[in-house]
Amino acid sequence: MVPVRCFTCGTVVASAHERFRDAVAAGTPTKEALDAPGLERFCCRRMLVSYCDLVTDAAPYE
Ligand SMILES: [Zn+2]
Repeated sequence: MVPVRCFTCGTVVASAHERFRDAVAAGTPTKEALDAPGLERFCCRRMLVSYCDLVTDAAPYE
């Protein structure tokens, strides 16, 4: 699950996650994919860059 807000400054970052993920999957450079939703602070940018979806590993049983 994507963190809703930046841990450091509190800016909402979850709303930018899908846009960022789709842009990176389409081959857009990471810098441009982070600039597009307006994430300027490096604390907010690291929230999306360092995110790794582990929910399927944490919950193996359905
Ligand atoms: Zn931040």
